[in-house]
Order: sequence, then C-alpha cells, then structure tokens
Amino acid sequence: MLATNGRMKIAIQRNGRLTEDSVALLRACGLSFEFQKQSLYSPCSNFDLDVLAIRDDDIPEYVQDGVADLGIIGENVLLERSARVHQLVPLGFGGCKLMISVPQRSAVRKISDLNGLRIGTTYPTILKSFLKDHKVRSEIVELSGSVELAPSLNVADVICDIVSTGTTAKMYGLRTFCTVLESQAVLVANLASMRDKKKRAIIDRLMIRVQGSQEAGGKRYLMMNAPANSVARLKRVIPSLKSPTVVPLAETGMVAIHSVVAEDVFWDVMEKLKKAGASDIIVVPIETIIR
Ligand code: ATP
Ligand code: ZN
Repeated sequence: MLATNGRMKIAIQRNGRLTEDSVALLRACGLSFEFQKQSLYSPCSNFDLDVLAIRDDDIPEYVQDGVADLGIIGENVLLERSARVHQLVPLGFGGCKLMISVPQRSAVRKISDLNGLRIGTTYPTILKSFLKDHKVRSEIVELSGSVELAPSLNVADVICDIVSTGTTAKMYGLRTFCTVLESQAVLVANLASMRDKKKRAIIDRLMIRVQGSQEAGGKRYLMMNAPANSVARLKRVIPSLKSPTVVPLAETGMVAIHSVVAEDVFWDVMEKLKKAGASDIIVVPIETIIR
C-alpha cells in the first residue's frame, strides 16, 4: 500500500502511450502541476488533487482499492482486470483495437472457424467473454508478451492482440481477422469516492472542466470584418454560422462577426467567407466551452 497524505489522487500512466495525452488533459482542465516521470506524486498547486504516476496495469486495482480516487486508463486494461470502478467518461485518446490475427495462409474466414484452435493472448478475460458470446470453443493460451511470435513458434495457431495499424501483424506473416474490442482511454473513479460528499464535489468540478475541454476540442473561434449588408449572405453560405455575434464597427456600414467553427470544415469555411465579402479573418483556438 502506498503512503497517502489525505489529498485526493488521480492515477495516470507513468511512461507510455497514454502519458502525454493524460497530462495534456489535466493541464487543459486548468490543473497546475509539475509532471516528472521519475516522481510518484505531483501535487496540483491550484486544485485539491495530486497526480499519481504509476504503471498503467496497476491503475484499475489502485482505483478499485481507493489508493487513487480517480484514474485514466485504457478500456482494454480496465476490462481485462475486471476492476469494480465507476466509469465517468470516455476521453477520445489512446484509441486502439484488440483483434484476432491469423497466419496469412490460414483457412479461417468466419468466427466459427476458430473452433478448436489455440489463441495466444495477453487478454484472456476479454477473449474468453468474446468467444462465449460467439459460442466458439477455442483453447486460450495465456502469454505474457511477444504475442506476434506465438504462431511461428507453434505456441498458438492464431493470436488476439492490440493492433493500431495492422502493419506489425503483417511483419510477422499474420493478417488481422476480426475485432474483439474497440478501446480508448476512460476516466474512472473509486466507488466510495463517488459516494463521499466532499470528494464528489471535487470530482464534479473536474468533470465540468473535462467536458468543457472535450466540447472545445476540434473547434476554432473565428472573428472577421464584413460589410453589414453581406451578413445574410455570409450566414447562407456557411451553415455553421447559425447564430454568430454581429457587432457594428466604428466605420459605418461595417460589422465584426464572431462565431465557432469546427476544425474539419475550417479551411472550406474560410474560403467561402472571403468570397462572400469577409476580410481581416482571425482564427483562435478555444480552450473550453462551459454550457
Ligand atoms: P507497459 O505496461 O510495459 O508500460 P503497455 O503496453 O501496457 O506497456 P503502452 O504501450 O504505453 O503500455 O499502452 C498503454 C495503453 O495505450 C494500452 O493499454 C492501450 O489502451 C493504449 N494504446 C493505444 N494505441 C496502442 C497501440 N498501438 N498499442 C498498444 N496500446 C495502445
Ligand atoms: Zn501496461
């Protein structure tokens, strides 16, 4: 058990694929802390929370047991550990798939073809429930790593492993066959912390900030000048400018228009705006949106 100082804690991965995005999310929530991979605790100077940096595989148990009140963890690890925690919100990063891959020349075409085969994996729990759902009887060979090598070493016939692009599978003479789980990072909480009035208030404050930064993600704030008589036309050409703020400028006949635009249509919108008479277009990132 870790020594605690009575402050609330959020556990994040110490050093890996989730680390950078987890730290960025907490900073986007306005939490001020100095993150150092070698130190276990990083206290927040402006929020009642300490950041606890540990191995990601330990996070489900630590949150379940109350060593940490909150945690950021991949759904793949959370499900595999079957930890009893409260899932607060998916976070939109750390995306990956748990997939079954088979040797290039394998005759496996449909899920029932997996009957009687040996499947090598480090995810026996998730795989077991997938096979049960599909009424398939395979032998699960529990491995601790280097899963891709299992078929060539004849330890297993096929494998079930995390895949992001499929190129690794190819390198080992395998082809991806089917998806067992689509995973992303999630924010989870200890069940007792959710029931504790004081802790719950802090969790709720953090959640408003998380949702605010998610809401702002992929959006830009747009400001431009335009002739007052072009406003109707600007609104028509750009559907995302549903209810822009329109402010008269000192120069008669000119207005300033402010609006929020989604990142993916942003360049399209800019080109159309210019054509419709807008000038001096300024684009700024949005940190948060509180509704
Ligand atoms: P270790 O525990 O030794 O640090 P790990 O494999 O658990 O290794 P990472 O490779 O950093 O740690 O992965 C952490 C999480 O990132 C995974 O559990 C998964 O949720 C997510 N993830 C996103 N993309 C990938 C990917 N391409 N491969 C593996 N995990 C990925
Ligand atoms: Zn891990």
